[in-house]
Amino acid sequence: MAPVETQQYDYIVLGGGSGGSGSARRAAGWYGKKTLIVESGRSGGTCVNVGCVPKKMTWNFATINEMLHIGKSYGYDIPDNIAMDYTHFKNTRDAVIKRLNGAYERNWNREGIDLVQGRAGFVEPQTIEVKLADGSGSARYTAPHILLATGGRPNIPSVPGAEHGITSDGFFEMEDLPPKIAVVGAGYIAVELAGVLNAINVETHMFIRGDNFLRKFDPMIQKTMTDRYEASGVKLHRNHSGFKEVQLIRDGKGKDKLIKLIGHDGSEIEVNELLWAVGRAPEIEDLNLNIPGVKLNAGGHVVVDEYQNTSVEGVYALGDVTGQAELTPVAIAAGRQLGSRLFGPPELKSSKLSYENIPTVVFSHPEVGCVGLTEPEARERYGDDKIKIYHTKFTAMFYDVMPAEEKAKNPTEMKIICAGPQEKVVGLHILGLGVGEMLQGFGVAVKMGATKQDFDSCVAIHPTSAEELVTMR
Ligand code: FAD
Ligand code: NDP
Repeated sequence: MAPVETQQYDYIVLGGGSGGSGSARRAAGWYGKKTLIVESGRSGGTCVNVGCVPKKMTWNFATINEMLHIGKSYGYDIPDNIAMDYTHFKNTRDAVIKRLNGAYERNWNREGIDLVQGRAGFVEPQTIEVKLADGSGSARYTAPHILLATGGRPNIPSVPGAEHGITSDGFFEMEDLPPKIAVVGAGYIAVELAGVLNAINVETHMFIRGDNFLRKFDPMIQKTMTDRYEASGVKLHRNHSGFKEVQLIRDGKGKDKLIKLIGHDGSEIEVNELLWAVGRAPEIEDLNLNIPGVKLNAGGHVVVDEYQNTSVEGVYALGDVTGQAELTPVAIAAGRQLGSRLFGPPELKSSKLSYENIPTVVFSHPEVGCVGLTEPEARERYGDDKIKIYHTKFTAMFYDVMPAEEKAKNPTEMKIICAGPQEKVVGLHILGLGVGEMLQGFGVAVKMGATKQDFDSCVAIHPTSAEELVTMR
């Protein structure tokens, strides 16, 4: 069925996730532009539906179990095997997400943004066609400004039988916990999800290619966190050479599913679930980017300049589809800056997001927080003789009540990396209880160009772990 007419907008945003929503709301809500969001899935995108939000809720669920365990050392009469109802938690989590989907749509509606549900692709350089999700056909839209904010999706390796495993998307669909799981991968998602599974008593096997996981992080984080996971019960298979085959022995849910993994080294392991967490790819399928001629890099990410311009005038991209710091606040901030630049007053015509010193937290057990350069990066940029490292490792007071061997499993560790005679703080790496909340304020300081002396001139808050950051020698 041929589309009848092409509707005209000021701004078309492909993808109603973090970046798309942030940008559309700036354009429509602040500057009154006629804006359309096209969304093929659920409103709010990855973060809301299969990312940050359900992940952090699951981290909270797991943290409660850890705290109950520690509660015993404080004198609470807590039984060893506390029953947990994961299905109840999953349903509660789904309900929260549904409310968020609605909140996104209400915000768009209030700000006069039109939402079309369906899959978009270019049919002409400035025109897109949407295959409508309700099956009623297709519709065409055109605008002088089109934003690609279509995000990404999880990779599945090309191993025979790989489809018998799940990815993070499938993790959030799980209604019953598998008693035993294999997690393949060593980045944010593998570490976060293996951490929660281990903390809720799932026998968790992690298969990593190197000695340590989180290999893009500072070596201190890599080593302490990998060792800490092993000490807390995660079965780590380091330097693993990968799997040559995955066999589904028994289909089902939770304990009823059985999968056999056969390694390149001939080893075999049977698990109830297999979670692939081996990175993500940009979501460009169906966009027909060849029609406007948008350039992609070798990984298939959309190439952009510092203003989020693609290689084609009037077409922009941001967020995960560009592969730049794949974090929700980054996509939102880039989207807002772009909205201001395109539609705001003249003084905002060069608005852009600074990608320097973006703070990030891994919601592992314990959390990890980082901003700025790792030690190897700082040494390479400034030279060994210009770098000074401050480091401390201790046990947070919270764990003092625990037996010594349990205490040892709960390190807090901090590293401040300083450069030049002024000792400007160019990297900050912390792990331990509460660091996720601790980092944001220090992120402001690092972004402002704080020196070690600035840190030290701030009076400590006692008794906290954070005080170590302003008293380190
Ligand atoms: P998305 O949010 O993915 O939005 C893209 C949207 O485009 C999707 O809704 C998709 O349906 C839609 N779309 C795709 N193609 C089309 C098309 N052709 N037509 C119409 N619509 C289309 N970041 C953090 O900062 N903190 C965290 O704790 C965190 N945890 C995470 C945990 C997990 C498990 C994952 C997977 C990611 C996590 N992230 C986290 C990363 C974060 O979710 C992403 O960086 C962020 O969502 C990217 O936003 P985006 O707007 O680029 O894309
Ligand atoms: P990452 O890029 O963080 O990690 C991918 C991992 O996959 C790497 O550690 C790599 O390990 C491993 N890997 C790749 N191929 C294979 C393979 N064939 N076999 C085994 N391991 C393999 O990607 P994620 O998918 O974990 O996360 C995507 C992005 O989403 C993150 O980079 C982050 O930006 C964002 N995110 C943010 C979160 C947060 O803010 N808390 C949480 C979750 C995601 P190796 O070390 O061997 O190279």
